[in-house]
Amino acid sequence: MKQFQIIYKNDEDFFNELETIKQWCDTNPSYTTLFRIYSEDMEFDHIKHVCDILDEKMPDALYLGCTTNANILDGALTANSEIIMTCTIFEYETTQVKLLQFPFLEEDVKEDVRQLREFCDANPWVNSVEMHATIMDMSMREFCEEMSTLRSDIQVFGGGAFNPNMDDEKAAVFSKGNGILEHGIVFLLLGGSDFHASSMFIAGWKPLKRRFKVTKADREILYELDGIPAFEIYQKFLKIQKNDKFFSNTLEFPLFMERDGVDILRCPLAVNDDDSLVMSSDITEDAIARLAYGDPATILSSIRHDGQKIADFQPEVIQTFSCAARRAFWGDENISSETIPFNSVAPTTGFYTHGEFLRINGNMFNFNVTLVLAAMREGEPKNSKIVNLYDAKLDNTEKIPIIWRFVSFIEASTAELEEMNTKLALSSITDGLTRLYNRAEIERRIRSTLDKHRQKEASGNLSLIMLDIDNFKRVNDVYGHKEGDHVIIGLSDVLRKVMDDVDSSYLGRWGGEEFMVLLSDSDIKEAEELAEKIRMEFESLTHEIAGHQTVSIGVTQAKVGEDADTLYTRVDKALYTAKANGKNQVVRLD
Ligand code: GH3
Ligand code: MG
Ligand code: MG
Repeated sequence: MKQFQIIYKNDEDFFNELETIKQWCDTNPSYTTLFRIYSEDMEFDHIKHVCDILDEKMPDALYLGCTTNANILDGALTANSEIIMTCTIFEYETTQVKLLQFPFLEEDVKEDVRQLREFCDANPWVNSVEMHATIMDMSMREFCEEMSTLRSDIQVFGGGAFNPNMDDEKAAVFSKGNGILEHGIVFLLLGGSDFHASSMFIAGWKPLKRRFKVTKADREILYELDGIPAFEIYQKFLKIQKNDKFFSNTLEFPLFMERDGVDILRCPLAVNDDDSLVMSSDITEDAIARLAYGDPATILSSIRHDGQKIADFQPEVIQTFSCAARRAFWGDENISSETIPFNSVAPTTGFYTHGEFLRINGNMFNFNVTLVLAAMREGEPKNSKIVNLYDAKLDNTEKIPIIWRFVSFIEASTAELEEMNTKLALSSITDGLTRLYNRAEIERRIRSTLDKHRQKEASGNLSLIMLDIDNFKRVNDVYGHKEGDHVIIGLSDVLRKVMDDVDSSYLGRWGGEEFMVLLSDSDIKEAEELAEKIRMEFESLTHEIAGHQTVSIGVTQAKVGEDADTLYTRVDKALYTAKANGKNQVVRLD
Protein backbone atom coordinates (compact mmCIF):
# COMPACT_ATOMS: atom_id res chain seq x y z
CA MET A 1 0.00 0.00 0.00
CA LYS A 2 1.45 3.30 -1.08
CA GLN A 3 -0.02 6.63 -0.18
CA PHE A 4 0.32 10.08 -1.71
CA GLN A 5 -1.01 13.13 0.08
CA ILE A 6 -2.25 16.09 -1.90
CA ILE A 7 -3.56 19.56 -1.20
CA TYR A 8 -5.62 20.83 -4.11
CA LYS A 9 -4.31 24.32 -4.94
CA ASN A 10 -4.94 24.72 -8.65
CA ASP A 11 -5.46 22.55 -11.69
CA GLU A 12 -1.88 22.76 -12.93
CA ASP A 13 -0.35 21.57 -9.67
CA PHE A 14 -3.01 18.88 -9.39
CA PHE A 15 -2.25 17.58 -12.91
CA ASN A 16 1.42 17.37 -11.97
CA GLU A 17 0.62 15.43 -8.79
CA LEU A 18 -1.51 13.00 -10.79
CA GLU A 19 1.33 12.59 -13.28
CA THR A 20 3.73 11.67 -10.46
CA ILE A 21 1.24 9.08 -9.21
CA LYS A 22 0.85 7.58 -12.67
CA GLN A 23 4.60 7.33 -13.05
CA TRP A 24 4.87 5.55 -9.72
CA CYS A 25 2.17 3.11 -10.81
CA ASP A 26 4.02 2.40 -14.04
CA THR A 27 7.10 1.19 -12.20
CA ASN A 28 5.52 -0.48 -9.16
CA PRO A 29 2.89 -3.14 -8.55
CA SER A 30 -0.40 -1.29 -8.48
CA TYR A 31 -3.86 -2.77 -8.74
CA THR A 32 -6.41 -0.33 -7.36
CA THR A 33 -6.11 3.41 -6.94
CA LEU A 34 -8.32 5.07 -4.35
CA PHE A 35 -8.66 8.76 -3.56
CA ARG A 36 -10.14 9.98 -0.27
CA ILE A 37 -11.16 13.61 -0.63
CA TYR A 38 -11.87 15.80 2.39
CA SER A 39 -13.23 19.25 1.73
CA GLU A 40 -13.49 22.23 4.02
CA ASP A 41 -14.47 24.09 0.90
CA MET A 42 -18.28 24.16 1.00
CA GLU A 43 -18.62 25.19 -2.66
CA PHE A 44 -19.90 21.95 -4.11
CA ASP A 45 -18.85 23.16 -7.59
CA HIS A 46 -15.25 23.10 -6.40
CA ILE A 47 -15.63 19.53 -5.14
CA LYS A 48 -17.28 18.52 -8.40
CA HIS A 49 -14.45 20.11 -10.35
CA VAL A 50 -11.87 17.96 -8.53
CA CYS A 51 -13.99 14.85 -9.09
CA ASP A 52 -14.32 15.68 -12.80
CA ILE A 53 -10.56 15.95 -13.13
CA LEU A 54 -10.11 12.54 -11.51
CA ASP A 55 -12.80 11.04 -13.79
CA GLU A 56 -10.98 12.43 -16.80
CA LYS A 57 -7.33 11.95 -15.90
CA MET A 58 -7.56 8.70 -13.93
CA PRO A 59 -10.77 7.04 -15.11
CA ASP A 60 -9.94 3.76 -13.36
CA ALA A 61 -9.35 5.37 -9.98
CA LEU A 62 -12.05 5.19 -7.30
CA TYR A 63 -12.80 8.10 -5.01
CA LEU A 64 -14.98 9.05 -2.10
CA GLY A 65 -15.14 11.92 0.31
CA CYS A 66 -17.11 14.36 2.36
CA THR A 67 -17.19 17.92 3.63
CA THR A 68 -15.44 18.41 6.95
CA ASN A 69 -14.86 20.76 9.85
CA ALA A 70 -11.12 20.70 9.17
CA ASN A 71 -8.64 18.19 7.85
CA ILE A 72 -5.63 16.24 9.03
CA LEU A 73 -2.73 15.80 6.65
CA ASP A 74 0.65 14.36 7.59
CA GLY A 75 -0.73 14.07 11.11
CA ALA A 76 -1.34 17.81 11.40
CA LEU A 77 -4.32 20.13 11.18
CA THR A 78 -4.99 21.90 7.91
CA ALA A 79 -7.72 24.48 8.23
CA ASN A 80 -7.49 26.83 5.27
CA SER A 81 -10.74 26.10 3.45
CA GLU A 82 -8.92 23.53 1.41
CA ILE A 83 -9.67 20.32 -0.36
CA ILE A 84 -7.14 17.69 0.62
CA MET A 85 -6.73 14.21 -0.79
CA THR A 86 -4.95 10.99 -0.18
CA CYS A 87 -4.27 8.67 -3.04
CA THR A 88 -3.84 5.10 -1.87
CA ILE A 89 -2.45 2.54 -4.25
CA PHE A 90 -3.10 -1.06 -3.37
CA GLU A 91 -0.13 -3.22 -4.30
CA TYR A 92 -1.71 -6.63 -3.83
CA GLU A 93 -3.89 -8.24 -6.45
CA THR A 94 -5.97 -9.84 -3.70
CA THR A 95 -7.05 -6.52 -2.19
CA GLN A 96 -10.59 -5.58 -3.15
CA VAL A 97 -12.33 -2.24 -2.90
CA LYS A 98 -15.99 -1.38 -3.40
CA LEU A 99 -17.96 1.85 -2.97
CA LEU A 100 -21.62 2.02 -2.00
CA GLN A 101 -23.47 5.32 -1.68
CA PHE A 102 -27.07 5.85 -0.56
CA PRO A 103 -29.41 8.69 0.38
CA PHE A 104 -29.39 9.04 4.16
CA LEU A 105 -32.33 10.27 6.21
CA GLU A 106 -33.76 8.49 9.26
CA GLU A 107 -36.27 6.64 7.08
CA ASP A 108 -33.44 5.33 4.84
CA VAL A 109 -31.35 3.80 7.61
CA LYS A 110 -32.79 0.28 7.55
CA GLU A 111 -32.77 -0.04 3.77
CA ASP A 112 -29.22 1.38 3.42
CA VAL A 113 -27.80 -1.02 5.98
CA ARG A 114 -29.77 -3.91 4.47
CA GLN A 115 -28.09 -3.31 1.10
CA LEU A 116 -24.69 -3.02 2.76
CA ARG A 117 -25.31 -6.21 4.74
CA GLU A 118 -26.39 -8.11 1.63
CA PHE A 119 -23.28 -7.04 -0.22
CA CYS A 120 -21.05 -8.07 2.69
CA ASP A 121 -22.81 -11.42 3.03
CA ALA A 122 -22.39 -12.13 -0.69
CA ASN A 123 -18.73 -11.03 -0.62
CA PRO A 124 -16.79 -12.76 2.13
CA TRP A 125 -13.66 -10.78 1.20
CA VAL A 126 -15.07 -7.63 2.92
CA ASN A 127 -13.35 -7.20 6.27
CA SER A 128 -13.52 -3.43 6.79
CA VAL A 129 -16.08 -0.73 6.15
CA GLU A 130 -15.04 2.90 6.23
CA MET A 131 -17.96 5.32 6.24
CA HIS A 132 -18.83 8.99 5.88
CA ALA A 133 -22.39 10.17 6.46
CA THR A 134 -24.35 13.37 6.85
CA ILE A 135 -25.70 12.96 10.38
CA MET A 136 -26.64 16.44 11.57
CA ASP A 137 -29.96 16.41 13.46
CA MET A 138 -30.32 12.65 13.05
CA SER A 139 -30.55 10.12 15.84
CA MET A 140 -27.91 7.50 15.16
CA ARG A 141 -29.44 4.94 17.51
CA GLU A 142 -31.25 2.85 14.90
CA PHE A 143 -28.33 3.14 12.51
CA CYS A 144 -25.94 1.80 15.15
CA GLU A 145 -28.32 -1.03 16.00
CA GLU A 146 -28.62 -1.99 12.34
CA MET A 147 -24.87 -1.78 11.74
CA SER A 148 -24.32 -4.09 14.70
CA THR A 149 -26.02 -6.84 12.66
CA LEU A 150 -23.28 -6.87 10.01
CA ARG A 151 -21.17 -10.00 9.78
CA SER A 152 -19.37 -10.10 13.10
CA ASP A 153 -15.82 -10.09 11.67
CA ILE A 154 -16.29 -6.80 9.82
CA GLN A 155 -14.68 -3.72 11.30
CA VAL A 156 -16.46 -0.41 10.82
CA PHE A 157 -15.00 3.04 11.35
CA GLY A 158 -15.66 6.52 10.08
CA GLY A 159 -17.00 9.95 10.75
CA GLY A 160 -19.86 12.28 10.04
CA ALA A 161 -19.62 14.78 7.20
CA PHE A 162 -19.50 18.26 8.67
CA ASN A 163 -18.98 21.95 8.01
CA PRO A 164 -16.12 24.30 8.96
CA ASN A 165 -18.79 26.42 10.63
CA MET A 166 -19.96 24.36 13.62
CA ASP A 167 -23.42 25.95 13.56
CA ASP A 168 -24.02 25.30 9.87
CA GLU A 169 -25.85 22.07 9.10
CA LYS A 170 -24.83 21.97 5.44
CA ALA A 171 -22.70 18.92 4.68
CA ALA A 172 -22.28 16.41 1.89
CA VAL A 173 -20.77 13.09 0.90
CA PHE A 174 -19.80 11.94 -2.56
CA SER A 175 -18.17 9.09 -4.43
CA LYS A 176 -17.24 8.06 -7.94
CA GLY A 177 -20.24 7.63 -10.17
CA ASN A 178 -22.71 8.64 -7.46
CA GLY A 179 -22.51 12.43 -7.37
CA ILE A 180 -22.69 14.70 -4.33
CA LEU A 181 -25.42 14.06 -1.74
CA GLU A 182 -26.42 16.53 0.97
CA HIS A 183 -28.19 13.72 2.83
CA GLY A 184 -26.10 10.73 2.05
CA ILE A 185 -23.89 7.95 3.29
CA VAL A 186 -20.93 6.44 1.51
CA PHE A 187 -19.41 3.12 2.48
CA LEU A 188 -15.92 2.14 1.41
CA LEU A 189 -15.63 -1.63 1.61
CA LEU A 190 -12.11 -3.00 1.87
CA GLY A 191 -10.80 -6.49 2.19
CA GLY A 192 -9.07 -9.48 0.68
CA SER A 193 -6.64 -11.98 2.11
CA ASP A 194 -3.73 -9.52 2.21
CA PHE A 195 -5.62 -6.48 3.49
CA HIS A 196 -5.46 -5.92 7.25
CA ALA A 197 -7.01 -3.21 9.39
CA SER A 198 -6.97 -2.42 13.08
CA SER A 199 -9.28 0.20 14.53
CA MET A 200 -9.64 1.81 17.94
CA PHE A 201 -10.67 4.97 19.72
CA ILE A 202 -8.99 7.17 22.29
CA ALA A 203 -10.76 9.72 24.46
CA GLY A 204 -8.33 10.80 27.17
CA TRP A 205 -10.97 12.60 29.21
CA LYS A 206 -11.17 11.00 32.66
CA PRO A 207 -14.36 10.51 34.70
CA LEU A 208 -14.75 11.94 38.18
CA LYS A 209 -16.20 9.65 40.85
CA ARG A 210 -19.48 11.44 41.55
CA ARG A 211 -22.31 9.56 39.83
CA PHE A 212 -25.50 11.08 38.42
CA LYS A 213 -28.48 9.14 37.20
CA VAL A 214 -30.04 10.23 33.89
CA THR A 215 -33.60 10.54 35.15
CA LYS A 216 -35.05 12.12 32.01
CA ALA A 217 -33.72 12.14 28.45
CA ASP A 218 -35.11 11.92 24.96
CA ARG A 219 -32.82 11.37 21.97
CA GLU A 220 -30.13 14.05 22.29
CA ILE A 221 -32.02 16.18 24.83
CA LEU A 222 -30.84 15.63 28.39
CA TYR A 223 -33.59 16.93 30.68
CA GLU A 224 -32.63 15.77 34.15
CA LEU A 225 -29.79 14.30 36.16
CA ASP A 226 -30.76 12.98 39.60
CA GLY A 227 -34.18 14.57 39.07
CA ILE A 228 -32.65 18.05 38.67
CA PRO A 229 -32.59 20.03 35.38
CA ALA A 230 -29.30 19.03 33.76
CA PHE A 231 -27.97 22.57 33.35
CA GLU A 232 -28.24 23.13 37.12
CA ILE A 233 -25.69 20.35 37.64
CA TYR A 234 -23.18 22.21 35.45
CA GLN A 235 -24.06 25.45 37.19
CA LYS A 236 -23.83 24.05 40.70
CA PHE A 237 -20.70 21.93 40.39
CA LEU A 238 -18.72 23.85 37.76
CA LYS A 239 -20.13 27.38 37.94
CA ILE A 240 -20.82 27.25 34.20
CA GLN A 241 -23.18 30.00 33.07
CA LYS A 242 -25.59 30.39 30.18
CA ASN A 243 -23.48 32.59 27.95
CA ASP A 244 -21.55 32.43 24.72
CA LYS A 245 -18.73 30.57 26.50
CA PHE A 246 -21.08 27.71 27.43
CA PHE A 247 -19.82 25.25 24.82
CA SER A 248 -16.11 25.90 25.34
CA ASN A 249 -16.58 25.66 29.11
CA THR A 250 -18.58 22.43 29.11
CA LEU A 251 -16.16 20.95 26.58
CA GLU A 252 -13.67 20.53 29.38
CA PHE A 253 -16.30 18.55 31.31
CA PRO A 254 -18.37 16.35 28.99
CA LEU A 255 -20.56 13.58 30.38
CA PHE A 256 -19.02 10.15 30.61
CA MET A 257 -21.15 7.02 30.56
CA GLU A 258 -20.89 3.37 29.86
CA ARG A 259 -22.80 1.69 27.05
CA ASP A 260 -22.46 -2.04 26.33
CA GLY A 261 -19.22 -2.09 28.28
CA VAL A 262 -17.69 0.82 26.32
CA ASP A 263 -16.99 4.29 27.73
CA ILE A 264 -18.61 7.02 25.71
CA LEU A 265 -18.63 10.81 26.04
CA ARG A 266 -21.40 13.25 25.31
CA CYS A 267 -20.87 16.99 25.12
CA PRO A 268 -23.46 19.61 26.08
CA LEU A 269 -23.77 21.86 23.03
CA ALA A 270 -26.43 24.31 24.22
CA VAL A 271 -28.93 25.05 27.03
CA ASN A 272 -32.67 25.24 26.44
CA ASP A 273 -34.99 27.64 28.28
CA ASP A 274 -36.15 24.83 30.58
CA ASP A 275 -32.52 24.16 31.60
CA SER A 276 -32.37 20.94 29.62
CA LEU A 277 -29.21 20.40 27.58
CA VAL A 278 -28.79 19.71 23.88
CA MET A 279 -26.16 17.00 23.80
CA SER A 280 -23.81 16.04 20.99
CA SER A 281 -25.65 12.70 20.48
CA ASP A 282 -28.31 10.54 22.06
CA ILE A 283 -28.45 9.93 25.81
CA THR A 284 -29.99 6.83 27.37
CA GLU A 285 -32.51 7.32 30.17
CA ASP A 286 -31.53 5.53 33.40
CA ALA A 287 -27.84 5.53 32.42
CA ILE A 288 -25.30 6.51 35.05
CA ALA A 289 -23.39 9.59 33.97
CA ARG A 290 -20.26 11.13 35.44
CA LEU A 291 -18.57 14.40 34.67
CA ALA A 292 -15.29 13.82 32.88
CA TYR A 293 -12.45 16.31 32.88
CA GLY A 294 -10.08 17.01 30.06
CA ASP A 295 -6.61 18.29 30.67
CA PRO A 296 -3.87 18.35 28.04
CA ALA A 297 -1.27 16.28 29.90
CA THR A 298 -3.76 13.53 30.76
CA ILE A 299 -5.04 13.41 27.19
CA LEU A 300 -1.58 13.23 25.64
CA SER A 301 -0.60 10.54 28.08
CA SER A 302 -3.68 8.47 27.03
CA ILE A 303 -2.70 8.93 23.40
CA ARG A 304 0.84 7.73 24.01
CA HIS A 305 -0.37 4.81 26.06
CA ASP A 306 -3.47 3.61 24.16
CA GLY A 307 -2.18 4.57 20.70
CA GLN A 308 0.74 2.17 20.95
CA LYS A 309 -1.63 -0.53 19.69
CA ILE A 310 -1.74 1.31 16.36
CA ALA A 311 2.07 1.49 16.21
CA ASP A 312 2.37 -2.21 17.11
CA PHE A 313 0.16 -3.07 14.13
CA GLN A 314 2.82 -1.53 11.84
CA PRO A 315 0.36 0.04 9.42
CA GLU A 316 1.14 1.58 6.06
CA VAL A 317 -1.55 4.24 6.39
CA ILE A 318 -3.58 5.62 9.29
CA GLN A 319 -7.05 7.11 8.89
CA THR A 320 -8.24 9.43 11.66
CA PHE A 321 -11.71 10.68 12.54
CA SER A 322 -11.41 13.24 15.29
CA CYS A 323 -14.05 15.30 17.04
CA ALA A 324 -14.33 19.02 16.31
CA ALA A 325 -14.84 19.37 20.06
CA ARG A 326 -11.23 18.25 20.57
CA ARG A 327 -10.11 20.92 18.12
CA ALA A 328 -12.09 23.54 20.06
CA PHE A 329 -10.63 22.24 23.34
CA TRP A 330 -6.99 22.38 22.21
CA GLY A 331 -7.18 25.34 19.88
CA ASP A 332 -5.68 25.27 16.37
CA GLU A 333 -2.11 25.91 17.61
CA ASN A 334 -2.06 22.79 19.77
CA ILE A 335 -4.54 20.30 18.35
CA SER A 336 -1.98 18.58 16.14
CA SER A 337 -0.04 17.33 19.17
CA GLU A 338 -2.67 14.59 19.38
CA THR A 339 -2.20 13.29 15.84
CA ILE A 340 1.44 14.10 14.99
CA PRO A 341 2.76 11.11 16.99
CA PHE A 342 0.92 8.74 14.65
CA ASN A 343 2.52 10.26 11.58
CA SER A 344 5.84 8.89 12.80
CA VAL A 345 4.23 5.43 12.43
CA ALA A 346 2.59 5.87 9.00
CA PRO A 347 1.10 8.70 6.89
CA THR A 348 -1.81 9.93 8.98
CA THR A 349 -4.76 11.68 7.35
CA GLY A 350 -8.36 12.32 8.18
CA PHE A 351 -10.71 15.01 9.30
CA TYR A 352 -12.57 16.71 12.14
CA THR A 353 -16.21 15.72 12.53
CA HIS A 354 -19.03 15.82 15.07
CA GLY A 355 -19.68 12.11 15.28
CA GLU A 356 -17.06 9.39 15.20
CA PHE A 357 -18.11 5.83 14.41
CA LEU A 358 -16.50 2.62 15.50
CA ARG A 359 -17.62 -0.96 15.82
CA ILE A 360 -16.37 -2.66 18.98
CA ASN A 361 -17.04 -6.32 19.80
CA GLY A 362 -19.77 -6.36 17.19
CA ASN A 363 -21.57 -3.28 18.52
CA MET A 364 -21.54 -0.06 16.54
CA PHE A 365 -20.94 3.13 18.51
CA ASN A 366 -21.49 6.78 17.74
CA PHE A 367 -18.87 8.61 19.76
CA ASN A 368 -18.27 12.24 20.56
CA VAL A 369 -15.10 13.92 21.79
CA THR A 370 -13.01 10.95 20.69
CA LEU A 371 -10.28 10.22 18.21
CA VAL A 372 -11.08 7.16 16.11
CA LEU A 373 -8.07 5.61 14.38
CA ALA A 374 -8.00 3.01 11.65
CA ALA A 375 -4.63 1.52 10.78
CA MET A 376 -4.28 -0.35 7.49
CA ARG A 377 -1.71 -2.57 5.92
CA GLU A 378 -1.33 -4.95 3.00
CA GLY A 379 0.60 -8.12 3.67
CA GLU A 380 2.70 -8.78 6.74
CA PRO A 381 4.62 -5.97 8.48
CA LYS A 382 7.55 -5.00 6.27
CA ASN A 383 9.53 -3.38 8.98
CA SER A 384 10.72 -5.19 12.05
CA LYS A 385 11.16 -1.96 13.96
CA ILE A 386 8.07 -0.86 15.85
CA VAL A 387 7.77 2.87 16.51
CA ASN A 388 7.52 3.59 20.20
CA LEU A 389 5.02 6.37 20.78
CA TYR A 390 6.62 7.02 24.15
CA ASP A 391 9.60 8.32 22.22
CA ALA A 392 7.53 10.64 20.09
CA LYS A 393 8.19 14.32 20.57
CA LEU A 394 5.44 15.22 22.97
CA ASP A 395 5.08 17.82 25.66
CA ASN A 396 6.88 16.88 28.81
CA THR A 397 4.31 15.03 30.90
CA GLU A 398 6.77 13.67 33.43
CA LYS A 399 5.90 16.32 35.98
CA ILE A 400 2.44 15.66 37.39
CA PRO A 401 0.35 18.71 36.53
CA ILE A 402 -1.41 20.57 39.29
CA ILE A 403 -4.84 19.57 37.94
CA TRP A 404 -4.01 15.90 38.62
CA ARG A 405 -3.29 16.75 42.22
CA PHE A 406 -6.57 18.64 42.55
CA VAL A 407 -8.50 15.83 40.93
CA SER A 408 -6.80 13.36 43.24
CA PHE A 409 -7.79 15.55 46.20
CA ILE A 410 -11.42 15.73 45.02
CA GLU A 411 -11.57 12.00 44.35
CA ALA A 412 -10.17 11.14 47.78
CA SER A 413 -12.58 13.55 49.49
CA THR A 414 -15.50 12.18 47.46
CA ALA A 415 -14.58 8.63 48.38
CA GLU A 416 -14.49 9.56 52.08
CA LEU A 417 -17.83 11.34 51.85
CA GLU A 418 -19.40 8.45 49.99
CA GLU A 419 -18.21 6.03 52.64
CA MET A 420 -19.65 8.28 55.33
CA ASN A 421 -22.91 8.60 53.39
CA THR A 422 -23.21 4.86 53.06
CA LYS A 423 -22.67 4.45 56.79
CA LEU A 424 -25.19 7.20 57.55
CA ALA A 425 -27.74 5.78 55.14
CA LEU A 426 -27.36 2.38 56.77
CA SER A 427 -27.60 3.69 60.31
CA SER A 428 -30.70 5.71 59.46
CA ILE A 429 -32.58 2.50 58.62
CA THR A 430 -31.01 0.17 61.18
CA ASP A 431 -31.94 -0.51 64.78
CA GLY A 432 -28.89 0.02 66.98
CA LEU A 433 -29.42 -2.86 69.39
CA THR A 434 -30.39 -5.68 67.02
CA ARG A 435 -28.98 -4.44 63.65
CA LEU A 436 -32.37 -5.32 62.11
CA TYR A 437 -34.33 -2.67 60.18
CA ASN A 438 -35.81 -0.01 62.43
CA ARG A 439 -39.53 0.65 62.65
CA ALA A 440 -39.56 3.38 59.99
CA GLU A 441 -37.69 1.24 57.47
CA ILE A 442 -39.73 -1.94 57.94
CA GLU A 443 -42.92 0.14 57.68
CA ARG A 444 -41.59 1.77 54.50
CA ARG A 445 -40.86 -1.64 53.02
CA ILE A 446 -44.29 -2.98 53.93
CA ARG A 447 -45.98 0.02 52.31
CA SER A 448 -43.90 -0.10 49.15
CA THR A 449 -44.46 -3.85 48.80
CA LEU A 450 -48.21 -3.29 49.18
CA ASP A 451 -47.99 -0.56 46.49
CA LYS A 452 -46.18 -2.90 44.11
CA HIS A 453 -48.79 -5.61 44.67
CA ARG A 454 -51.50 -3.06 44.02
CA GLN A 455 -49.84 -1.99 40.75
CA LYS A 456 -49.38 -5.67 39.92
CA GLU A 457 -45.62 -5.16 39.50
CA ALA A 458 -45.09 -8.02 41.91
CA SER A 459 -46.87 -11.32 42.00
CA GLY A 460 -47.28 -13.62 44.95
CA ASN A 461 -48.40 -13.08 48.52
CA LEU A 462 -47.48 -10.66 51.24
CA SER A 463 -47.58 -11.98 54.79
CA LEU A 464 -46.63 -10.47 58.15
CA ILE A 465 -45.36 -12.10 61.31
CA MET A 466 -45.55 -9.98 64.48
CA LEU A 467 -43.76 -11.08 67.65
CA ASP A 468 -43.76 -9.94 71.28
CA ILE A 469 -41.62 -11.50 74.01
CA ASP A 470 -43.71 -12.90 76.85
CA ASN A 471 -43.58 -11.39 80.33
CA PHE A 472 -40.69 -9.22 79.40
CA LYS A 473 -41.25 -6.72 82.17
CA ARG A 474 -40.44 -9.54 84.55
CA VAL A 475 -37.18 -10.30 82.73
CA ASN A 476 -36.13 -6.70 83.30
CA ASP A 477 -37.32 -6.68 86.87
CA VAL A 478 -35.75 -9.99 87.92
CA TYR A 479 -32.54 -10.17 85.84
CA GLY A 480 -31.92 -6.52 85.10
CA HIS A 481 -32.25 -4.35 82.01
CA LYS A 482 -28.92 -5.52 80.56
CA GLU A 483 -30.01 -9.14 80.52
CA GLY A 484 -33.31 -7.90 79.02
CA ASP A 485 -31.24 -6.48 76.15
CA HIS A 486 -29.49 -9.84 75.72
CA VAL A 487 -32.85 -11.59 75.44
CA ILE A 488 -33.93 -9.07 72.76
CA ILE A 489 -30.69 -9.70 70.85
CA GLY A 490 -31.27 -13.43 71.30
CA LEU A 491 -34.64 -13.20 69.52
CA SER A 492 -33.16 -11.11 66.70
CA ASP A 493 -30.48 -13.78 66.17
CA VAL A 494 -33.17 -16.47 66.01
CA LEU A 495 -35.06 -14.40 63.41
CA ARG A 496 -31.93 -14.01 61.28
CA LYS A 497 -31.15 -17.70 61.52
CA VAL A 498 -34.62 -18.93 60.60
CA MET A 499 -35.12 -16.38 57.80
CA ASP A 500 -31.63 -16.73 56.36
CA ASP A 501 -32.70 -18.86 53.41
CA VAL A 502 -36.17 -17.37 52.94
CA ASP A 503 -36.15 -15.13 49.86
CA SER A 504 -37.90 -11.78 50.09
CA SER A 505 -38.01 -11.68 53.88
CA TYR A 506 -37.31 -8.49 55.82
CA LEU A 507 -36.77 -8.28 59.56
CA GLY A 508 -37.57 -5.24 61.65
CA ARG A 509 -37.69 -4.20 65.29
CA TRP A 510 -41.15 -2.76 65.77
CA GLY A 511 -40.36 -1.29 69.19
CA GLY A 512 -39.26 -2.50 72.65
CA GLU A 513 -39.45 -6.30 72.59
CA GLU A 514 -41.76 -6.41 69.56
CA PHE A 515 -40.66 -7.45 66.07
CA MET A 516 -42.17 -7.58 62.60
CA VAL A 517 -41.23 -9.89 59.73
CA LEU A 518 -42.30 -8.97 56.18
CA LEU A 519 -42.59 -11.87 53.77
CA SER A 520 -43.21 -10.34 50.36
CA ASP A 521 -43.50 -13.66 48.56
CA SER A 522 -45.01 -16.15 51.04
CA ASP A 523 -48.62 -17.10 51.79
CA ILE A 524 -50.07 -17.34 55.29
CA LYS A 525 -49.42 -21.08 55.52
CA GLU A 526 -45.69 -20.65 54.87
CA ALA A 527 -45.66 -17.69 57.26
CA GLU A 528 -47.34 -19.77 59.97
CA GLU A 529 -44.80 -22.56 59.57
CA LEU A 530 -41.92 -20.10 59.80
CA ALA A 531 -43.47 -18.47 62.85
CA GLU A 532 -43.74 -21.84 64.58
CA LYS A 533 -40.09 -22.51 63.77
CA ILE A 534 -39.12 -19.17 65.34
CA ARG A 535 -41.24 -19.85 68.42
CA MET A 536 -39.62 -23.23 69.00
CA GLU A 537 -36.06 -22.03 68.34
CA PHE A 538 -36.52 -19.14 70.78
CA GLU A 539 -38.06 -21.33 73.43
CA SER A 540 -35.15 -23.76 73.25
CA LEU A 541 -32.56 -20.98 73.53
CA THR A 542 -30.83 -20.78 76.94
CA HIS A 543 -30.06 -17.22 77.95
CA GLU A 544 -27.04 -16.84 80.19
CA ILE A 545 -28.93 -15.43 83.17
CA ALA A 546 -32.58 -15.39 82.15
CA GLY A 547 -32.63 -19.06 81.13
CA HIS A 548 -35.52 -19.97 78.84
CA GLN A 549 -37.96 -17.35 77.59
CA THR A 550 -40.91 -17.49 75.22
CA VAL A 551 -42.51 -15.38 72.51
CA SER A 552 -46.09 -14.95 71.28
CA ILE A 553 -46.65 -14.57 67.54
CA GLY A 554 -49.44 -13.29 65.28
CA VAL A 555 -49.54 -14.13 61.57
CA THR A 556 -51.65 -12.74 58.74
CA GLN A 557 -51.70 -12.24 54.98
CA ALA A 558 -52.61 -9.11 53.00
CA LYS A 559 -55.83 -9.15 51.03
CA VAL A 560 -55.93 -7.81 47.46
CA GLY A 561 -55.81 -3.99 47.46
CA GLU A 562 -55.54 -3.79 51.26
CA ASP A 563 -53.73 -0.86 52.88
CA ALA A 564 -51.09 -1.10 55.60
CA ASP A 565 -53.24 0.09 58.52
CA THR A 566 -55.89 -2.64 58.35
CA LEU A 567 -53.12 -5.20 57.87
CA TYR A 568 -51.37 -4.00 61.05
CA THR A 569 -54.66 -4.10 62.96
CA ARG A 570 -55.22 -7.73 61.98
CA VAL A 571 -51.70 -8.99 62.76
CA ASP A 572 -51.84 -7.12 66.08
CA LYS A 573 -55.17 -8.81 66.83
CA ALA A 574 -53.65 -12.23 66.07
CA LEU A 575 -50.79 -11.48 68.46
CA TYR A 576 -53.24 -10.26 71.14
CA THR A 577 -55.17 -13.55 70.78
CA ALA A 578 -51.93 -15.52 71.22
CA LYS A 579 -51.29 -13.61 74.47
CA ALA A 580 -54.89 -14.03 75.64
CA ASN A 581 -54.81 -17.78 74.92
CA GLY A 582 -51.85 -18.31 77.26
CA LYS A 583 -48.79 -16.96 75.37
CA ASN A 584 -45.91 -18.97 73.78
CA GLN A 585 -47.96 -19.76 70.72
CA VAL A 586 -48.63 -18.79 67.09
CA VAL A 587 -52.07 -17.52 66.10
CA ARG A 588 -53.03 -16.94 62.51
CA LEU A 589 -55.81 -14.64 61.42
CA ASP A 590 -56.88 -14.78 57.76
P1 GH3 B 1 -46.59 -9.55 77.64
O1 GH3 B 1 -46.24 -10.96 77.79
O2 GH3 B 1 -48.02 -9.26 77.72
O3 GH3 B 1 -46.00 -8.97 76.43
O4 GH3 B 1 -45.95 -8.81 78.86
P2 GH3 B 1 -44.73 -7.93 78.92
O5 GH3 B 1 -44.20 -7.87 80.27
O6 GH3 B 1 -43.74 -8.32 77.86
O7 GH3 B 1 -45.40 -6.53 78.58
P3 GH3 B 1 -44.93 -5.45 77.61
O8 GH3 B 1 -44.85 -6.00 76.27
O9 GH3 B 1 -45.87 -4.29 77.80
O10 GH3 B 1 -43.52 -5.06 78.19
C1 GH3 B 1 -42.57 -4.38 77.44
C2 GH3 B 1 -41.41 -4.04 78.29
O11 GH3 B 1 -40.21 -4.06 77.57
C3 GH3 B 1 -41.52 -2.67 78.87
C4 GH3 B 1 -40.17 -2.04 78.74
O12 GH3 B 1 -39.60 -1.67 79.97
C5 GH3 B 1 -39.33 -3.13 78.16
N1 GH3 B 1 -38.40 -2.65 77.14
C6 GH3 B 1 -38.74 -1.93 76.04
N2 GH3 B 1 -37.62 -1.70 75.31
C7 GH3 B 1 -36.58 -2.30 75.94
C8 GH3 B 1 -35.19 -2.43 75.68
O13 GH3 B 1 -34.66 -1.94 74.68
N3 GH3 B 1 -34.43 -3.14 76.54
C9 GH3 B 1 -34.98 -3.70 77.65
N4 GH3 B 1 -34.18 -4.37 78.50
N5 GH3 B 1 -36.27 -3.56 77.94
C10 GH3 B 1 -37.09 -2.90 77.11
MG1 MG C 1 -44.67 -5.49 74.25
MG1 MG D 1 -44.13 -8.46 75.89
